[in-house]
Amino acid sequence: MAAVSATVHDVVERRLAEADQRYTAGRRALVDVLARAGRPLTVPEIVAANEELAQSSAYRNVTSLVELGVLRRLRGPEDHDRFELAEALSHHHHHLVCVECGRVEDVELSLDLEQTLREAARVVGATHGFGVVEHRLDVLGRCRTCEPPGGDASAIAGAGAAKRSEASPV
Ligand SMILES: [Zn+2]
Ligand SMILES: [Zn+2]
Repeated sequence: MAAVSATVHDVVERRLAEADQRYTAGRRALVDVLARAGRPLTVPEIVAANEELAQSSAYRNVTSLVELGVLRRLRGPEDHDRFELAEALSHHHHHLVCVECGRVEDVELSLDLEQTLREAARVVGATHGFGVVEHRLDVLGRCRTCEPPGGDASAIAGAGAAKRSEASPV
């Protein structure tokens, strides 16, 4: 687990101050957990990572931090939304989504692949008179835990991922 750079907290504190909001200890602890996790977490997972966080206030805080642009909400089934730091506070990345257990992992693509994706998004946008500002790409599949024995989950980390999984650029 990497240490959370003071910069993240500074930026969040400034952003909240601009909105007349306080960067409370609860909010700070929540941002800290998400910055360390390196993958999007559900509220129960966030609470489990820091015993000082109460579930009720954690739900309130993630909601307001999403509204303030500090966190991004990834919609999940029923009550299983996941949260991560907004890309402005972390870095551009994509997600591997397990269709069995719902776990979501962050992945960074190579510069070449990012360039290809940006170009593909630009072409799609241009075709529809749509000004592209960013792109998202989730790769759906089965994680190592959920892949039945004999499956080729190892391929998910390589170039095979796009082939065997459903890719959905938004
Ligand atoms: Zn899984
Ligand atoms: Zn990208």
